[in-house]
This record gives sequence, C-alpha cells and structure tokens, in this order.
Amino acid sequence: MAEVLVLVELDPAGEGVRKTTLEALTAARALGEPSAVVVGAPGTAASVQDALAEYGAGKVYVAESAEADDFLVAPKAEVLAQLVGAVAPAAVVVPSSPEGKEIAGRLAIKTGSGFLTDVTEIAPDGTATQVAFAGQTIVHSRVTVGTPIYTLRGNSVTPVPAPAAASQVPVQVTLSERARQTRVVDRVVEAKSSRPELTEAAVVVSGGRGVASAENFSLIEALADSLGAAVGASRAAVDSGFYPHTFQVGQTGKTVSPQLYIAVGISGAIQHRAGMQTSKTIVAVNKDPEAPIFELADFGVVGDLNTIVPAATQQIAARKG
Ligand SMILES: Cc1cc2nc3c(=O)[nH]c(=O)nc-3n(C[C@H](O)[C@H](O)[C@H](O)COP(=O)(O)OP(=O)(O)OC[C@H]3O[C@@H](n4cnc5c(N)ncnc54)[C@H](O)[C@@H]3O)c2cc1C
Repeated sequence: MAEVLVLVELDPAGEGVRKTTLEALTAARALGEPSAVVVGAPGTAASVQDALAEYGAGKVYVAESAEADDFLVAPKAEVLAQLVGAVAPAAVVVPSSPEGKEIAGRLAIKTGSGFLTDVTEIAPDGTATQVAFAGQTIVHSRVTVGTPIYTLRGNSVTPVPAPAAASQVPVQVTLSERARQTRVVDRVVEAKSSRPELTEAAVVVSGGRGVASAENFSLIEALADSLGAAVGASRAAVDSGFYPHTFQVGQTGKTVSPQLYIAVGISGAIQHRAGMQTSKTIVAVNKDPEAPIFELADFGVVGDLNTIVPAATQQIAARKG
C-alpha cells in the first residue's frame, strides 16, 4: 500500500501529540498507509509512539537531533523534502496550523509539488474539499503536479483509532546553512487556562456585542465552565475590548467545529458564521427574533441573555449535582 507522510504536531507544553496529528493520521488513511514524521529533540518519538501506533502509523520516521528545536519551520520542511525524495509517498498531510501551512508551502516549493491548504476532507482518489468565500462555496480540487501536499483544517475529521505497528525508522538530519539562519533563543509556553483549547473543544460558548461589557463575559465563562466548554467571542466583542483577540471565532479569527456551539448575543454575520457553521449543533440566544443567527441555529432562545444565561448555568449545575 502507498505510503502517506503525516507530519506530527507536538503539544507545545510537552504533553504528547496534538489532536490535529490524530486527525491528519485518520484523514491520510483514505490515500494509503500513514507514516508519521517526528522532528524534534532526542526522545521525542518515544514519548509519542503509543499515540501514533494507536491511530494508524505503520512507520514512524524519527528525525531527532539535539538542535532540532533551535530552529523554526525550516528543518521540518527539509526533513519532509528529504523523505519525499527517498520514499516517493503518495501524498503528504500536515495539520493546518500557521506553522503547518508554512512548512507545507516550503515543501511544495522544494519538491515542485501542488499544495492544497485548509482542506476539510480527502477522498481516496486524492480529491480534497475546501470551504471558500466565508463558507459560501465548497471547492473540490486535485493536485496534478508532483507529490500532493495537503494541510488539514482542525476539527474537520474525527480521529478514529486503527492500531498499526509504528515501526521506528531513523532519519539522518542534515540541515542546510539556510535552515540555520534564524535561531530560536527563547520559548515561553503560553499560560493555559483550565478550559479546553478553543479549536479542539467539543463544546464552545461564544459571546458577542450583546454581552455588553468585559465584566459581563463572566456570564459566558460560567456557562462554559458548567459544560466543560471553551469560550469564544465575536469580532465585535473583541474589538470592543470585552475579550482577548485570541478567542475570536470567524473569518479573521479561529475556525471551530465542535459538537455544540452556543452563540450568545451574536447576530450571526457571515464573517462569524465562516468560523463556526460546521458545528454539529448550534444554539443561539438573542433578544432579536429576526437575528440572522436563528437561520443557522438548531435551537434558538429569544430573550435577554442576562436572564437566560445565568438560569441555564444554574439548571446545568443542578442537573450535574
Ligand atoms: C473583513 C471582515 C472580517 C471579519 N471577521 C470577523 C470574524 O472573524 N469574526 C466575527 O465574529 N466577525 C467578523 N467580522 C465582523 C462581522 O461582520 C460582524 O460585525 C460581527 O460578527 C458582529 O458581532 P456581533 O454579532 O457580536 O455584534 P452585533 O452584530 O452587534 O450583534 C449583537 C447581537 O446581540 C444581540 N443582543 C444585544 N443585547 C442582547 C441581550 N441583552 N440579550 C440577548 N441578545 C442581545 C442583538 O440582538 C444582536 O443580534 C468581520 C468583518 C469584516 C468586514
């Protein structure tokens, strides 16, 4: 069976692989047998071996070196390019993070290959699905030049275990002088809240301009915490200073696709919908019965969020207790 290279994205806090890697391994199986590619400091591959085996990696290419973490994306692109030359894979699948997209772009140049970014699905014949124009258009495309390279949008594929051998294959890392030109001199791991990561959460509760103040976002946080959810925000809420930009959902923010998305005090502008419309179940709370978000919602509550949200939080807590 053809090999499909999957670049492993590691958790920056050192807690194994990111869920995006398991999604990429699952999607890659449509095209052949996934081979995971680990680029990192010595010992990295051993720490993620079990997860890679559980999610279908037949092989694990281990490109470890003491200086692997001293550089940004260039070494990963070089290692992948060396492997593309050596094993002639059927395709390469990379998680669609900012780093992943840069690595994939560099790999495409190095190997003279076509590159499809932010794909949500890959069919067995290599046809990829992309969502364009803020969700208004679905595009199906295929790479016709070189080795097809895809970056897979987070949360578009549900990781499915498929145990495999995950046999380790050491890779000699030979970095060019170009790859060494920018060196990382310090790393600061972002302080993590106890809430799940926004793009990976199964439940997201987002607040909009209707929340009316930064202080009032505590209502959104309390509802989120009662559900073990992540907190999101509309751009209007972010621009008004109610919540930090890193939590913005939408065309110019993060894309989420949880099992449950609760939009509170959000009108449902097309740019917001672009970041959440693939959520499985959408609940909207809005005082305006004509708000466009209700066209999209599976379940709508018309009323004042200041009454509805605390009542919902209380009911959820009571049922859990
Ligand atoms: C290029 C571009 C990119 C953009 N990118 C994004 C993006 O990434 N994400 C994004 O979100 N937007 C984005 N926008 C902005 C977008 O067009 C909207 O302006 C924005 O989404 C509106 O946010 P909102 O729904 O919170 O605010 P509003 O549209 O002002 O809606 C507030 C809603 O709250 C309701 N409400 C008010 N008070 C209450 C209450 N007490 N109880 C219940 N409901 C109440 C109102 O009825 C209203 O429907 C972008 C715009 C452009 C031009």
